[in-house]
Amino acid sequence: MDIIVLVKEVPDMEKVKFDRERGVIDRSSASAQINPFDLNALQTAVDLKEEVGGNITAISMGPPSAEDSLKEAIARGADEGILLTDTSFAGADTWATSFILSQAVKKIGDFDLVICGEMSVDGDTAQVGPQAAEFLDIPHVAFVWDIEEIVDEGLVVCTDMWSSSYRQQVNFPGMITVTKDINTPQLPSLQDKMKAKKAEITTWGLDDFAELDIEDDDVGLSGSYTKVKNIVVPPETSRDSKIWDDDYQEGLDELIELLAEKRRL
Ligand code: FAD
Repeated sequence: MDIIVLVKEVPDMEKVKFDRERGVIDRSSASAQINPFDLNALQTAVDLKEEVGGNITAISMGPPSAEDSLKEAIARGADEGILLTDTSFAGADTWATSFILSQAVKKIGDFDLVICGEMSVDGDTAQVGPQAAEFLDIPHVAFVWDIEEIVDEGLVVCTDMWSSSYRQQVNFPGMITVTKDINTPQLPSLQDKMKAKKAEITTWGLDDFAELDIEDDDVGLSGSYTKVKNIVVPPETSRDSKIWDDDYQEGLDELIELLAEKRRL
């Protein structure tokens, strides 16, 4: 099975600081790492490869430093890494991000499955996977928490949406986005890490997409439909709270009284 995993490099969200004056994340304030959900995507690919064989390609769009994340992806089982990096890709919203990622998948050509994390921990939109699948015109299932069966035509997967569980078949070539419940990412061994450090990462910029007729206006900020007018950090608010864990009836009576006082009843 030829699998492509889309891997985003994100700042460590536990440590990252927000530049309140400029309204942006101060990426220099924290180290970069692979988006945690993408580790589940990589592990899914590794498990599938172990079962049926094949090849895993990890693709990331980001600054040149994202090469390190692709090397980590290789340490974790990917066979090769492709970094999409070019000044014209900068400032991309989810539309432009998923567009260029989908074009990279198209450029690779032969693939059975694309796997993404369910969302990124910094952007948080969960849009890139399904949008890229739409650009590629392939079937896709989001929020997959189990792969039940591999059949000739595709995968039978389990997903949760709108408080219900579904069992669905996604045919090849197709895409899934996976949740953290699908597996536990395995740590790479020291030997794998050392080997991956020496791996060559392929780099593609805008010029490498010439055969797909992609222009400056299709990518990065110029290819983005989202225009950010302002970014604000919500003020921290503290609210009084009370827990009644012994006498529910007393708690209920007090709550009704409180609400009545506030004229909400
Ligand atoms: P989600 O949709 O939540 O991610 C889902 C999955 O898609 C991930 O788990 C991963 O598998 C895959 N994926 C997502 N992004 C990538 C990627 N880059 N490479 C590989 N796989 C990926 N961000 C910047 O870093 N630099 C900028 O200059 C920048 N400029 C922006 C300008 C505008 C106007 C806007 C609106 C946003 C900008 N962003 C920028 C944020 C950027 O658009 C999003 O981070 C990006 O589109 C991914 O969306 P997301 O984080 O919500 O990913």
